[in-house]
Amino acid sequence: MPTVLVAGAGPVGLTMAAELARYGIAVRIIDASPHQTETSKALVLWSRTLELMDRMGCTAPFLDAGLRARGAAIRSDGALLGTPRFDAIASAYNYALMIPQRDTERLLTDHLRSLGVEIEREVELTGFTARETGVEATLRHVDGREEVVQADWLIGCDGAHSTVRHGLGATFAGSAQGDDWLLADIRIEGPKAPPSDELSIHFHPDGPFVVFPLPGGRARVVAPVGKSDPSRPRDAPTLAEVQALADARAGGGFRLTDPVWLSNFRINERKVADYRYGRVFLAGDAAHIHSPAGGQGMNTGMQDAINLAWKLAMVVRGSADPVLLDSYSAERSAVGDMVLRNATRLTAAATLSRPAARFLRDAVMRFLLGFKAVRAGMVSTMSEINIAYPNSPLSHGSGGGTRWDPRHDRGAPPGSGREPRFVLYTDDAARGAGLAARFPSLLEAEPRKPVVPGTLVIVRPDGYVGLSGSASDWGSAESYLGRLASAG
Ligand SMILES: Cc1cc2nc3c(=O)[nH]c(=O)nc-3n(C[C@H](O)[C@H](O)[C@H](O)COP(=O)(O)OP(=O)(O)OC[C@H]3O[C@@H](n4cnc5c(N)ncnc54)[C@H](O)[C@@H]3O)c2cc1C
Repeated sequence: MPTVLVAGAGPVGLTMAAELARYGIAVRIIDASPHQTETSKALVLWSRTLELMDRMGCTAPFLDAGLRARGAAIRSDGALLGTPRFDAIASAYNYALMIPQRDTERLLTDHLRSLGVEIEREVELTGFTARETGVEATLRHVDGREEVVQADWLIGCDGAHSTVRHGLGATFAGSAQGDDWLLADIRIEGPKAPPSDELSIHFHPDGPFVVFPLPGGRARVVAPVGKSDPSRPRDAPTLAEVQALADARAGGGFRLTDPVWLSNFRINERKVADYRYGRVFLAGDAAHIHSPAGGQGMNTGMQDAINLAWKLAMVVRGSADPVLLDSYSAERSAVGDMVLRNATRLTAAATLSRPAARFLRDAVMRFLLGFKAVRAGMVSTMSEINIAYPNSPLSHGSGGGTRWDPRHDRGAPPGSGREPRFVLYTDDAARGAGLAARFPSLLEAEPRKPVVPGTLVIVRPDGYVGLSGSASDWGSAESYLGRLASAG
């Protein structure tokens, strides 16, 4: 019997299953589809996701397969508004790693396999009943066979049309953005071809035209092509149509060739309020969907999974009180709200058509992007290194809930072991070791030297500060860990 049933083997379900397996939790992961994603879909892994993947122990093959984009150029009607550079991101990964989603899924599948877990394909979750003590789920196999499985926990990583979300009756509140968008994965040739390591964003009265570099000399272009008619899906664009848009909106001077994917999509901006329903959780697109502006969707979903996995592992192992699980929804739903807000604003700004509004947008952007601090703030937000949990029940002290920069650690970052443990940073190694001995299933045995002498910091297994205080705050540290510790 699996302790945890993960429904959906997209990037979020794969991350979830891999993290649980790493922490020794019995996990079963199913997917209705016979194969993984075959198209590029989400194309960027941002700095914070890469940092967190370091804890998972799987970053290297992604870095080998991806392309490092160094910045973006933003133009309006051909005039340059600004060129934010990603090297302003305060991370070892100060770039956007461009990698098609099919490669992300392939590499995550390899990583999961290395932990001894295989995806069960052509197995669909069709329904479930959640009780106080566990979940009974019904699975349909490809041969029509029905299987009833008992699990302690169910995690819905089953995408935008989530069966788990429907089964919970959770409202997916929001709306459609209203435009049809085209998408093309192509090659770009010619003297004015955009640089192969830079995002090119062209604002235009008819709508933006955006070019993302891809590994292997390819690029993704995206552009809105008119209001959507809910009763009439638009045909996939032809290469000639995409070329005409490039000429009209991006100044021309380059030729699009060799398309491998031409498609349309619509943008929905929706989210559930709660990510936890007793023994059932939602993560990734099952919980939040929004505009791809900023490339946040998959990154946010993978970080949902990383946030939940260590908490669930600690509770299943009996190391922490189950109340720890409530912090998942509190923390990640707040992040989802912020990501949705930013993506909606970015899309609205990019699709302005009224001349006065466009004039104002361009003037404000040109002015703001002239400031180094604004450029750095913008790229730091996109890279998700600014994500913090200041209002979380797990955050204590002035720096509580902030990201712990993994560059502070000479050795492995917190959370990288086979057991999830908090890490204590103190000058008083003997007293720190004593505290660890009192909470052996919560704290790493060896305290580490603090970055700032005279401080006492407890860092969570997902690299966020739990408690930050002064060197003498031993009482706070003790009660922090006492509250976390298993009631049993
Ligand atoms: C055209 C397109 C372009 C995109 N571009 C970007 C981008 O540039 N940047 C970005 O960040 N995001 C982008 N996205 C969004 C990104 O692809 C998603 O955010 C990401 O895939 C979410 O991952 P997930 O694992 O939550 O869900 P999914 O990838 O949707 O995976 C869900 C999985 O669950 C399975 N499943 C569904 N129902 C069941 C069931 N009942 N039982 C068992 N299995 C089930 C499905 O087969 C699927 O494999 C794009 C999406 C599309 C469609």
